[in-house]
Amino acid sequence: MKTHRYFVPFYIIVAQCALSSQSKTSSDDGFCAADGDCDGLGAKEKHVEKEWAAIRDNIEESIRLYQPCENTTTSCACYEPIVDQDLSRFENITAASLSSLRNKVPRAVTYQIVGGRVYRSPEPCLFPLRCKGAEHFLLEVAPKVPDVELVVNFHDWPHISMRFEKEALPLFSFSKTDEYADIFYPAWTFWAGGPATKLYPKGLGRWDLFQMSLHKASQRIPWADKEDRGFFRGSRTSAERDPLILLSRRRPELVDAQYTKNQAWKSPKDTLGADPASEVALEDHCKYKFLFNYRGVAASFRFKHLFMCGSLVFHVGDEWREFFYPLLKPWVHYVPVSSSATEGEIELLLEFFMKSADVGRGIATRGQKLVQKKLRMEDVSCYWTMLLQKYASLLDFKPKRNNNYVEIQRGNQ
Ligand code: UDP
Repeated sequence: MKTHRYFVPFYIIVAQCALSSQSKTSSDDGFCAADGDCDGLGAKEKHVEKEWAAIRDNIEESIRLYQPCENTTTSCACYEPIVDQDLSRFENITAASLSSLRNKVPRAVTYQIVGGRVYRSPEPCLFPLRCKGAEHFLLEVAPKVPDVELVVNFHDWPHISMRFEKEALPLFSFSKTDEYADIFYPAWTFWAGGPATKLYPKGLGRWDLFQMSLHKASQRIPWADKEDRGFFRGSRTSAERDPLILLSRRRPELVDAQYTKNQAWKSPKDTLGADPASEVALEDHCKYKFLFNYRGVAASFRFKHLFMCGSLVFHVGDEWREFFYPLLKPWVHYVPVSSSATEGEIELLLEFFMKSADVGRGIATRGQKLVQKKLRMEDVSCYWTMLLQKYASLLDFKPKRNNNYVEIQRGNQ
C-alpha cells in the first residue's frame, strides 16, 4: 500500500501513552513550554512533540504551496486536467472497443445521445436508482453535447486494470484507484441511489438538497459550539475502519465511532463484537469537530457531505477516489490519515487538533468553502458536459440511434 508523504510515521505509536496523560509543562499547542523550551520532557513526550512539529510543518508547507483554482471561465474548468488525464490514453475510440466493453463488463449500460435525446440499451438496469442518478445529468447535458455513445459501469468497483488490460477500453466508472484506467463520471448519488440505509432507504441522493440542509446545520452549530470529539458512524464495509472503532471503545471521550448494520449484517461479529449502533443523520454529524471518512467497497459517498458541516475532515487512505477528490488537498482542506494508521496514530492526530483548534478550524473552513464553491450541482453538470464533449471528439464513428434502445425522458427512468 502506498504511503502518503504526509502521513504520520509508524513509529509514533510508541509515543501514544504520553498523549493520554498530558505533560504538566505543556503549552497551548504542544508539550514544550511557551518559550519553546523542551528541556525536562521525557523521551516519549519529546517524541510526540517532534511528531506534532512535523504535522505543523506539513500544514504550513502545504498551505504555502497550494495554488487555488480560481477565476476560471466555466464553473468546472478546475476539473479539466482530471478529464484530460482520463482521456489521455485514447487516440481514438472505435465502435469495436465499445462492443468489447459490453462483453467484458457484466450488466454495463450503453447510452447514446443522438440529436440531443438520450437512449439506453434495452436490458433492465441492474440498479435502477443508479441509472436514474446518471440519467438526470445525461438528460440535462444532452442538448449541449455532440452525438455520442458511451458504456457506463454501475457497479461499485472499476474494471479496466492498468496492468492487465492491454487494450485501452473507455469504461465510465464512478470511483477508482491509480491502478485502474476507467474514466471518472460523477456518481449517480449526486441525484439518486446511494447506499440504502434505515435513514436513507432510497439511498443518499439529492446532493442539492443535502447541501442546503448541511449548510443550515453548519450555521446552527458553528465551530465553537461543536463537540471537541471525533465522530464516525457507518457499517464495516472495510476493515480499515477497525482501529478507529477500537480507539473509540478505549477512549470514548476522544472519539465516538461505532459500527452500524448494513444489509450484509448477520451477527455482532460483523460489527466487531458489539451490537450495531443506531444510524445518525449526516446533519447530526455537524455537532462534532472531527469527522472521519473511510473508503467502503470503493470511495464512500459521505466524503463531500462531511465537508459541508464545517467540521475538520480526517480522510483515511488516498487510494479510492471520485472525480472531485484531486481538488481537495491534504492538510489544506482535510487531514490525511494513512489507511494503515494504528489506533495510536489516530489518537496522536486527534490530540494534536484538540490542542491546535485554530489550525483545525482553518483547514475545516477551507474544505467547506471549496466544496461549497466547486462542487455545486451546476459544476457536476458542467463536468458531464466537458467530459462528453471531449470524449465525443475521440469517437472515430458517428453514433447512429439503435432502434432497440429505449428513449429516456424525465419521468420514465
Ligand atoms: N450513513 C449515515 N449515518 C449512519 C451510517 C451511515 O449517514 O449512521 C451514511 C454514510 O454517510 C454513507 C452511507 O450511509 O454515505 C453508507 O454508509 P456505510 O458505512 O454503510 O457504507 P460506505 O458507503 O461508507 O462504505
